Amino acid sequence: MFVRGDLEKIEQKIFRGERLTREDGEKLFACNELTWLGALADFVRKKICGDEVLYNVNCHVNLTNICMSRCKFCAFGRDDDDRRAYAMTIDDAINLVTEAARDPNLIGLHIVSGLHPKWTFENYLAFVETLHKKFPALYVKGFTGVEIQHFANISGLSVEEILRRLKAAGLQAIAGGGAEILTDRVRNLLCPKKATADQWLNVARTAHKLGLPTNASMLYGHIETLSERVEHLIKLRELQDETGGFRTFICFPFLPKNTALESEIRQTSMWDDLRTIAISRLMLDNFRNIKAYWVMLTVPVAQVALSFGANDIDGTIHRENILHDAGATSPRALAEDEIIKIIRDAGRVPKLVTEVLS
Ligand code: SF4
Repeated sequence: MFVRGDLEKIEQKIFRGERLTREDGEKLFACNELTWLGALADFVRKKICGDEVLYNVNCHVNLTNICMSRCKFCAFGRDDDDRRAYAMTIDDAINLVTEAARDPNLIGLHIVSGLHPKWTFENYLAFVETLHKKFPALYVKGFTGVEIQHFANISGLSVEEILRRLKAAGLQAIAGGGAEILTDRVRNLLCPKKATADQWLNVARTAHKLGLPTNASMLYGHIETLSERVEHLIKLRELQDETGGFRTFICFPFLPKNTALESEIRQTSMWDDLRTIAISRLMLDNFRNIKAYWVMLTVPVAQVALSFGANDIDGTIHRENILHDAGATSPRALAEDEIIKIIRDAGRVPKLVTEVLS
């Protein structure tokens, strides 16, 4: 329930550069003034980052889809006896990156994978070490907070030691996935076998302390309440106040196809996607980059999201697997010139990311 006077007060706070409260966030989710939300988020985006839109030329490396967590919202993870299960060898990973590196603009790798029940931490570490040595010019961003916590669990090492060893092997940043919704209620229902909310936040905090930047994300549109979306954003904002180590925030709309929730939950609407990006920009006043991830949003919605607070459209990707298993209808990759055109057609200025930012 909202009243117009509340919205006017929030608008004035935004124009004065004041922080929005949890109650403000809940009022924004309760209102149905989509274009108003978009205009405010666009105002803040322009003030913080101008008209440049970040994109990158990257390659996703998903080492294995075999996963012991089997989260209810995931269409990628499989049991090891599933006929579609796979696990890369180091040579497979080298071949994938060699093919992607034919593009002279390729700047980095994004490595995220399942929690393989038989692999050790050293198995994962070897991929980072080898890829970094073989392709020293490429930045290596990899592993979500969930994977890092899993490595600590299976190795008996602390999260800090895991991160130190990965950093020494060549890892330069941590991926933003695995945050889902940072409340115990949601995680207990959807993904009880993996990192808790506190553990995910602890991995990010520890990485920031070690000088490893991380991204943050929110998977929304499943069983969470709107109030839990706000709670999630506030937890990220508080940690960012503490460390300043988050680079980019990414909203992931839940794609139900081929997941355990397929018969119960319908995919989010464009309306919900755009308001969630806009409210994220307004609540996360200490994040510079808000990403419109075209793979999940679709290219047209990601392009419109550039006017709803987003200043980053991700990258070429080379070959996306995880979300296409969940029925993503976007292409598996985009050429760099297509990304540039999408950004220019939205009246914005493309900026190729050349460091671990996005
Ligand atoms: S979301 Fe990640 S941890 Fe969960 S089942 Fe999928 S791959 Fe495994």
